[in-house]
Formats: sequence, structure tokens, C-alpha cells
Amino acid sequence: MLQLKNIKKDYVVGGLPVPALNGISLEFQKNEFVSILGASGSGKTTMLNIIGGLDRYTSGDLLVDGKSTQDFSDNDWDAYRNATIGFVFQSYNLISHLSVLDNVEMALRLSGVAAKERKERAVKVLTEVGLVDHINKKPNQLSGGQMQRVAIARALVNNPMILLADEPSGALDSKTSHQIMELIKSISKDRLVIMVTHNAEMAHEFSDRIVQLVDGRVVDDTRPVQIKSGAVVSDKLLNKKTSMSYLTALKTSFKNLLTKKGRTLITAIAGSIGIIGIALVLSISTGMTSYVDEMQSDTLAGFPLTVSSIVSTNIFAGPRQGMEDLGVSDGSFIDDPIIYSYDEISNTTLHTNIFSDDFLSYLDQMDTTLYNSISYTRSISLNIIAETSAGGYTKIISDTSMNPFSSAGTVLNEIPNSPEFIQSQYDILAGQYPVAYNQLVLIVDSQNQLDVSILEALGISVEENYTFDDFIGKSFKIIPNDVYFNSLGSTFIPGTDYEAMYTDADAVTISIVGILRVNEDASTELLSTGIGYTTYLTDYMIAMDSTSDIVVAQEASPTVNVLTGLPFNTQLTYDMTMRAIGGDSTPTGVQIYPVSFDSKDEIKSYLDAYNVGLDEVDTIVYTDLAETISATISTLISTITIILAAFAGISLVVSSIMIGIITYVSVVERTKEIGIMRSLGARKKDISRIFNAETVLIGFSSGVIGVLIAILLNIPVNIIINRLIGVPGFSTLNLTSAIGLIVLSTILTLVAGLVPSGIAARRDPVVALRTE
Ligand code: ADP
Ligand code: MG
Repeated sequence: MLQLKNIKKDYVVGGLPVPALNGISLEFQKNEFVSILGASGSGKTTMLNIIGGLDRYTSGDLLVDGKSTQDFSDNDWDAYRNATIGFVFQSYNLISHLSVLDNVEMALRLSGVAAKERKERAVKVLTEVGLVDHINKKPNQLSGGQMQRVAIARALVNNPMILLADEPSGALDSKTSHQIMELIKSISKDRLVIMVTHNAEMAHEFSDRIVQLVDGRVVDDTRPVQIKSGAVVSDKLLNKKTSMSYLTALKTSFKNLLTKKGRTLITAIAGSIGIIGIALVLSISTGMTSYVDEMQSDTLAGFPLTVSSIVSTNIFAGPRQGMEDLGVSDGSFIDDPIIYSYDEISNTTLHTNIFSDDFLSYLDQMDTTLYNSISYTRSISLNIIAETSAGGYTKIISDTSMNPFSSAGTVLNEIPNSPEFIQSQYDILAGQYPVAYNQLVLIVDSQNQLDVSILEALGISVEENYTFDDFIGKSFKIIPNDVYFNSLGSTFIPGTDYEAMYTDADAVTISIVGILRVNEDASTELLSTGIGYTTYLTDYMIAMDSTSDIVVAQEASPTVNVLTGLPFNTQLTYDMTMRAIGGDSTPTGVQIYPVSFDSKDEIKSYLDAYNVGLDEVDTIVYTDLAETISATISTLISTITIILAAFAGISLVVSSIMIGIITYVSVVERTKEIGIMRSLGARKKDISRIFNAETVLIGFSSGVIGVLIAILLNIPVNIIINRLIGVPGFSTLNLTSAIGLIVLSTILTLVAGLVPSGIAARRDPVVALRTE
């Protein structure tokens, strides 16, 4: 049933072929117990490995049931080993981290036998070799004889036609050796047993036939079989292919990993470092994004869309982009030793928004549910007289920018008519929010400071500090045109007797009713420090002054300025003058306060719709302050996120490489195990499947551990962030990211393990078995 025809085997050592077998021709019968005798190095193991399909012959032929093996594929050899051959080695070759039962079951796993049947068959064969009481022990808990019995049980569990034993009793004492020999003898009753031994005595005592090898040649055969021609050919033994399912591979690996819990855990933790990094980055950037979104809808949504009288836009963000136009540069730096000229002014457009009646009525028609309020800025100049601390009178110079030493802007400012929004940005330190034309408010900076130039302009003597009461209730007089201006023929000149104006019956008393300070949550300082007045005061003054002498005179003189007696020019127009003296209530600015972020977009499209079909000069250009702020913030956030993600990515790559190396070390460490599995009929595929399944499991655990640790780390991170910016639960990992990270970790680890598992699969089983 087994026939060797002139088998030769050369090993290539240092590039030269070294013969181990020099043409062996033998035939074996079905139920024989054949001993192979020979000195060390005579080629016994080589011959046995070739018969067992572990090693390949260089020339000649091996016939199994009359069928040549010359055209055998790897799969055929795997199936042959798994179904036809049982191997027993001198050094037992048990897988040390598997139990006795699992060791025996391994061959059945590889051939895809179901779990229940697997166990039944393994227990049955272990009972036969007398080890039924030890099935759950590990190999190192057994004696040498017991281990060899396990190895024999493993070899028999697939009910192979041929049992190959390489010095099975070589490591055992003589009593145990005898017991093992008895066992093997009994096995040979119904199958072919070929046993290598150097113990001639034992060979003679137990075997039916002895073959003697010297230097790779048969020198003696006690019972040679006549080679019969036309032997019955049967494919029965060979058509069985081994197959190990992915699930079995996964279970096998899981078992492997469980037997090395500590090591597995350390590997998984090492692999999880990158995942922790990415998970934290994701948590924080998710937190940042939702924080910004919230801020946008909460705070920034309250910021107005502004239409100012003059909007300047720079067509090009910088001179280098200007070069693009000339085809000189695509925005990169220039290497040529050339200096270019460019005109910044020609690149800047100044757009004058015209607040035409059309536009104002268009605004009036806007859906009122979109905005909280619309506030109009008028350019009326108010004439306000203050009583100084010294007892004199002074006109409040509104504009302190004339003073080169002052950084303050204007002393008097109209507050946009949007009380809710302003009070969301400002705290009322004392008094109340102004609600009437004769109520003013004092605005101090975040440090409760007021610039001295403002104090001087208000006629207040400069001191180290003041109480709130020094300001609350302080009153001023606002002087109507007819009191303020004196007619001098065709021109008007401002009066200088402030005391007389102050005490005039027509002077209107206005007083400070509250003190405002920008609050900590405010996104920007909306109001200038100094005195703020309401739009009601503006309306009040326009109503009062529109019929004043100076306004009437100016209306009658459209070309000559009644204040100077000079004709109007482009710097000082009729309209500007009329607005300043309160004769024209046309606004010079509009602030629209949207209800929400979404409604702001609707307002913008409403404004854009106004421009459709209009000439450039008539179009309206608005500015969205919030957009500028949020755009800056989101650029900042994405920059930070990218940098953090890059770091996390690097750590992920590093930990994947680490897992690759750890897998490789494990391959090297388990070389012997790979050899054993191959001798049991494992295909290369099975080996790589087992290692891949192992890396998948490790990658999955790394992902889970990483995500869990990140969730735990988020707790202290959130405590710190809450302390810093007062936002609880800032850093959170959402479910999608968590699952995504676990998948990513699994895939990366699998990829990192592919090379080592490929190496494992390609191991030569003979070489693998030789390693200790
Ligand atoms: P035995 O089992 O009879 O002691 P082996 O079959 O192991 O002998 O070895 C036969 C010869 O082949 C020896 O000279 C041995 O050195 C050589 N040999 C065995 N395996 C290899 C190998 N993988 N590479 C090179 N030479 C080998
Ligand atoms: Mg040997």
C-alpha cells in the first residue's frame, strides 16, 4: 500500500547538495510493524519525513495505494498528512499551552470535525491509551510516558492508515519504553506502523520486519515485499481535503490568547496607546465643535448684521495674490530678484451704502420673526453742556481722538436699540438700563476703568477712584439748535456762553441712570467706554431740531453751508450737514439683530435679494461680525485638531508596528507549534488564519481597551476643562467614533500582523519541528 521507488534526497548546505538518501526502494504492507534501524545520521528521520509528506524527495517516487505523489499539490500533501498519516516524535511535540484533550482534538479541528464529535473521538482514543483521567491536564503535568501516550492518541485520533514513529521511546526509561512499544504493537494490528529506532533489541522484540539503513541506503531488509505490478489503485485515502473554518481558527486563537493572559493584555494595552490618543483627540474636537456651535447659536447669533455707510473691501487679501493676476505667481513666494509695484488703493474698493427710501422700506417689509430688532444709526451731533466739578460749564467734546495722547474714541455714543442683546453682553453694575430719551448710561471697561480724557471731557476732575454714586444721577443739559446757534445774517455760529445755555429754559436735562460693564462671557466689546445714549434721545432731538432756524435756513440754501458760508464739497456735503444739525433723519447705519443663527442666514439672503438687478452703486454691502469671529475660531479649531490628529496618527502607526513586531516574536516563539500543526495536516492557510485571527482578536481588544481608557481619561479632562472655561462634559467620545476606532484598531493590527503570519505560514515544517 506504500511504495518507495528509488527515493533520493539531497539537502543543500552552503550551496552544495549533500545527499541524505541515496535511492531507497521499499514497499510496505497494510498491517505491518516495520522498524527502521541505523546509526545516527544514516537518514532514518529524513526517510520518515518523506513518507509522512512533511519533507519532499528530490527524485524517485512515493506511491500511496499505487498512486504516484509526484504531482501532489500542497493541498494534497496537507490532506495526506491529515487523513492518512499519524506522527509520533521522540520529543512528543505536544503544544504546551493546550490541554491534553485540546492537543488530541487539534488534528480533528484541522479537518473540520464538529466540536461534539471531536470531543467524543478524542476522549475515546485517550481512553484507549489509558489517559482518560488526565484529559484536562497540561502536557507539563504529565510524565514522559504519559506525554508519549498523548502523542500516540493524537496520531490515532484521525484513524490514519499509517502511523510513523520517530524514536518514540528514545527519551523514556526501559520500563516505560516497553509499555509504549506494547501500545504501538497493538496499534499495528490494523494499520501500517513504521518506527525509527536505534534500539536493535527492541526492534527485534516487537516488530515484524526490520529495515537497516547505512548512509542513506537500505543494506538489509528482513522481510522484503515483492513489488507486485498492477496493485489495486484506490483514491479513498486521498480525496479527503482538510478544511479549518475561520470560526475554528478564531476559537483556536482565542484559546491560545487565553493561555497567555498577561502577555495578551500587555500587547493589547501597547496597541491601544494610539487608539487612546485618537479617541481623546476626537473627544476634544467633538467637544470644541459642539461648544463653538453652541456659542454661535447662543452668543454669536445675537451679533448684528451691520450695514455701515462706507464699507471697505480689499479685493486681494495680500499683494502676492495680486501677482497672480499678472501671471507672475500662484501665491507662492518669489525666488526671482525682482521687485514688483502694485497699487493697494486700486485693489481696495470703498463701497458707499445708500440708505434710499427703497432700501429702508425693503427693510421694513422684512419678516419680523427673523430679527429681535433693527437699530438705525443717525449722525446727529449732540450739543451737551456739563457743569464741571470746579463749578464752571463745559461743552462735552464728543470726539477724544483729537487728543494725541488718548486712546479712547468717542465720549458719547448711541447704543443700538437692542436691549436684550446688549444686556446679554453687559452687566449692569449699578442703577438701571436706560429706557428713555433722557436716560444715559456710563460704560466702563472690564477693569472698571475710565480713560482720563473721557473724565476731562465730561468736566469731571480726575481722581484716583470714584464711587458708583459719583456718576449715578449725574446730569447734563442737551441744548436745542435754536439755543445753541446764533444767527449772524446768512450764517450761524455756535454760542460760547455755556452757562446761559445750561440755564436756558429750553435746555433738556439728561442724566446717567446706570453703569454698564462688559461681562465675562461677551465675545467682543460692543460699546465704547464713556457715555451711551439711547436712540430715543436721537429721535427726540431730531423731532425738536427739524424745525429749528438753522435747519430751515439750510434747507433754503442747498449749495452753501450755513455754518461756514462756504459752498459744499465732496468732503462736506449738504446731506452730511443736514444730518449733523438734526434736519435729516435718514440713517447712516443699520444693525439687524437676528433671532437665531438660521434666521441670520435668511436675513442675509433677504438682503442679497435686494441687490439683484441693481447697479453696483445702488447695492447694499453688509458685514457679518459673527461670521468673522466664528470663521477665525473654526480655523483655529481645525488647525488644532489636525495637529493633534497627526500626533495621534503617529502613535497609532507606532503601536501598529509594535503589534507587528510582537506578532513576529510570537511567530518565532511558536515555530515548533507551527511545525506540529503542519505535521498534523494544517495547511499554510490554516496557520496564517490562526495568526491572523490572533491579531484580529488583539486589535479588537486594543480598540476596546483604548476606547474604555479614553472614556475614563475624559473624566479628569472634563474636570479640568470645566474648571478652566466652565463647560461641563466638554470632552465626549460619541458612539460612532468609538465603534469606528475599534474597527480601525482591528484592521490596522490585522494589517500589521499579515507579514508575520505570512512568514509563519511559509515555515518549512521539517525545520520548524527541529527548533526547540
Ligand atoms: P537520522 O535520523 O538517521 O539520525 P537524519 O535523517 O536526521 O538522520 O539525517 C540524515 C543526514 O541528512 C544527516 O547527515 C543530516 O546531517 C542531514 N540532514 C538532515 N536534515 C537536514 C537539513 N535540514 N539540512 C541539511 N542537512 C540535513
Ligand atoms: Mg533522526
